[in-house]
Amino acid sequence: MTDSSQAARVRFAPSPTGLTHLGSARTALYNYLLAKQTGGKFILRIEDTDSKRYVAEAEDDLKDSLKWLGLNWDEGVEVQGPHAPYRQSERKAIYREHAQELLENGHAFYCFCTPKELEAARQEQIKRKEQTRYPGTCRNLSLEDAQQRIKAGEEHVIRFKMPREGSITVTDELRGEITFENKNLDDYILVKSDGQALYHLAAMVDDHLMEITHVTRGEEWLATFPLHVHIYRAFGWQEPKWVHLSVFLKPQGKGKMSKRDTEQMKLSGQSIFVKDLEDMGYIPEGVINWIALMGWSYDDKTEFFRLENLIELFSIKKLNPSPAAIDFKKLDHFNGLHIRALEVKDLAQRLLPFFEAEGYEVDDDKLKDIVPLLQERLVTIDDAPSLAGFFFKDEVEPNPEELVAKGLNAEESANLAQKTLSILEQATDWEHDSLQEPLRALADEMEVKAGQLFGILRVAITGQRVSPPLFESMEIIGRETSLKRIKKAIALLEAQAA
Ligand code: GLU
Repeated sequence: MTDSSQAARVRFAPSPTGLTHLGSARTALYNYLLAKQTGGKFILRIEDTDSKRYVAEAEDDLKDSLKWLGLNWDEGVEVQGPHAPYRQSERKAIYREHAQELLENGHAFYCFCTPKELEAARQEQIKRKEQTRYPGTCRNLSLEDAQQRIKAGEEHVIRFKMPREGSITVTDELRGEITFENKNLDDYILVKSDGQALYHLAAMVDDHLMEITHVTRGEEWLATFPLHVHIYRAFGWQEPKWVHLSVFLKPQGKGKMSKRDTEQMKLSGQSIFVKDLEDMGYIPEGVINWIALMGWSYDDKTEFFRLENLIELFSIKKLNPSPAAIDFKKLDHFNGLHIRALEVKDLAQRLLPFFEAEGYEVDDDKLKDIVPLLQERLVTIDDAPSLAGFFFKDEVEPNPEELVAKGLNAEESANLAQKTLSILEQATDWEHDSLQEPLRALADEMEVKAGQLFGILRVAITGQRVSPPLFESMEIIGRETSLKRIKKAIALLEAQAA
């Protein structure tokens, strides 16, 4: 155990507003690792207080993405647990009670200022070159007066009564202590006029009630971090440990990702959304390894990590507060490593749907024979059908021009193919090594390079220029089909030569 011997209770608390992207996945991962490492609990809480921005499909996508990545939660929506409900829209009464407590102990106040009044005050502050903030109009209204006005039907919000003097020192596990002057902090809204609690109140109340020990969240919450600690202290609660994760930068390493960048990325066949990565043939192990290292490292050299290794080795202390650039080349690299590390049976199972989606009827035994040939070559598993679809076809349709070997003409190629056919027809043992040897001898005899001969044969057998190892492929395809394909190639070459 690297961080603490205390069983951590951590939460991933997304607002389902759009598809799950790498940033969320990484936050979820680090939380998950801390929980599993300490024998604690990983909690999924849905922060849906902003009903206008809530998207039901986004919540489904979120749960599917976590499950696909293998980050199953111990408590939370769907699975429930001792602190249910885990959906903020079902916890309104709890927030109301807590807002009431802050109103009564003088840490919050009712505010009746209209948007128009607030805007006028803001303009004044700008004119006076002051920092814009709540002007303080309702800060000192008595609770009784406020309640009268509420009874009379006046619209209101509830604000945190930020001390006007002094400072607050907060501690982020990555950045150390940070001191904020209270006078620079605002009287933030805790409850909106529709009675809905905002993140600042809802999340703090939930984190406390759900006994969260570590809050690991995005860096965008650093600005309101002092408010959150003020809220904890106003209730007299013990704070969790706070960890603010760095943002992701564009692949070029300049600036944060924008919506437009995301769209452009998709056009070039890349994506930051977990679902897209799945559809593109990345495997969860590869994605996990990739995102784990976007902000954390174990040492300078180790780069291959499975989820179970990460559980053992993860440490908050080794998180990097500087922003990480998204590097898709690394994703390809890690995906390849993890594909190679899979059991043949496992990879076969994962490849099957990709072949089926392309309309291939897949024979399971044959697939298991093919997998070892593909395993070394695949970057993403969706490459498999284009690389190996020929195994499941009755016939291939080679491009006649591709059958002509480099440096030879169609007639010479046809002649070479004919001689190849004669040799293979006599092969007693249809096994890759014994198929290859006499053909090498043939190339020597004909004074061509083995590569020229094998090139013709490859296109004849597979219908493509790039394929898994040729002779192993021929062994799997079998004598009859292989010979049939070579005969067809000879006919195509002869037709060109004529
Ligand atoms: N709902 C917040 C968000 O999605 C959660 C932040 C947090 O983890 O506290 O940004």
